Amino acid sequence: MDVPHLVFDDLGSGVPLGPSNLRKIVRAILERKYEKLCPPDYVDRVVKSIRDDPIQLRPPKYGPPKPIAAPKSQARAVALVVNDRHEIHHVRERGYVESPVRIKSILAGIEPTGLFFRVQPKPFAEAHIRAVHDRALLDYLKRACASVPPGQSLYPYVFPIRNQTKPPEDRAYAAGYYCIDTFTPLNRNAWHAARRAVDVTLTAAEMVLEGQPLAYSLVRPPGHHAEHRVFGGFCYFCNAAVAAHYFSRHGKVAILDVDYHHGNGQQDIFYSRSDVLTVSIHGHPRFAYPFFTGFAEEKGKDAGEGFNLNLPLGEKVHGEAYRRALRKALRAIREYDPVFLVVSLGLDTGKADPTGTWSLVAKDFEANGRLIGEMRLPTLVVQEGGYRTGQLGTNAAAFFSGLVAGSQSTSKPGSANKRPRRRS
Ligand SMILES: [Zn+2]
Repeated sequence: MDVPHLVFDDLGSGVPLGPSNLRKIVRAILERKYEKLCPPDYVDRVVKSIRDDPIQLRPPKYGPPKPIAAPKSQARAVALVVNDRHEIHHVRERGYVESPVRIKSILAGIEPTGLFFRVQPKPFAEAHIRAVHDRALLDYLKRACASVPPGQSLYPYVFPIRNQTKPPEDRAYAAGYYCIDTFTPLNRNAWHAARRAVDVTLTAAEMVLEGQPLAYSLVRPPGHHAEHRVFGGFCYFCNAAVAAHYFSRHGKVAILDVDYHHGNGQQDIFYSRSDVLTVSIHGHPRFAYPFFTGFAEEKGKDAGEGFNLNLPLGEKVHGEAYRRALRKALRAIREYDPVFLVVSLGLDTGKADPTGTWSLVAKDFEANGRLIGEMRLPTLVVQEGGYRTGQLGTNAAAFFSGLVAGSQSTSKPGSANKRPRRRS
């Protein structure tokens, strides 16, 4: 039965609701809105029944979700580095979902958990980016971004794909030579924000190298669609790949991409290498961006043959189906036996994400985090996509509480305990 409710908001005044006010309110509602349903004697009876002073209010049943408070043993288990310069990168065109509020939403969800401690980002040399990206791309991004007038965006509109040896000299025409789509504009601040995202990710990676078991690089712009010589998909530099290459000097690395979209960036960058295993679970390219990579038959080439694993899934995927794929991915990683794990964390696998079609909810993110944590590998988590801003914080908090619990659990481990074997 639908029982009508009267909602009271004191607008922060702290003044309780008194009976004479409520009598006036109820009378006004019943006489003006329900005149045809309520005869005058009925209205009188209802109004007279209001006697409490002050009026008793029912405690709220639905409110913002309570933060999951971490047990003491899990407090401050994850080093958190945040891109402090991400807000300068704000593309205001309609439909550009990769917006600054994403970071704010995630922070609002994860900070009350007590699982994190903040670390300030520090600068790293550009050589780290050049180690995984073509110098021409880097130079182009730097110059083209600087040349765009403030407040404007540069979109590619010519794609000179047939003669790759002749990049157009004009920076505006050249955009299509370096970009894989038409929705990743260049602007004054994109370079600075993307450059800082790399610094943030390397700061977090360095924490892991120094023995911190779990670190989280909370960045935008994201990175996993940026390939060796091209950018796109809201991404300019492949943050996860820069970090994986940095780790690779100290031992084998696995990258697990759990974003809804294929991690074509790291696949491309490490396609011929055997010292970095790339694994991605994503929407099948027949319906999901980037549409031309992410097929199961892409397995690596030359020395990298057998070191790329794609697990494309269908359009409708719920938590249990996702975990089946995740277990498969983790089995491959366990077999590879890496020293470090980099997780490209996309939250766009969540229910009602505007760029995805799957239906994962908070408890699924927690279960996924737990499975990954049970690998007990030194782990760097790098933020990628996720655009349903109302849900990002809850899902990120759930993922990390699972990750930390899994990494500390004594249940059947995903692999033997591992700590970085530092050589330098
Ligand atoms: Zn994505």
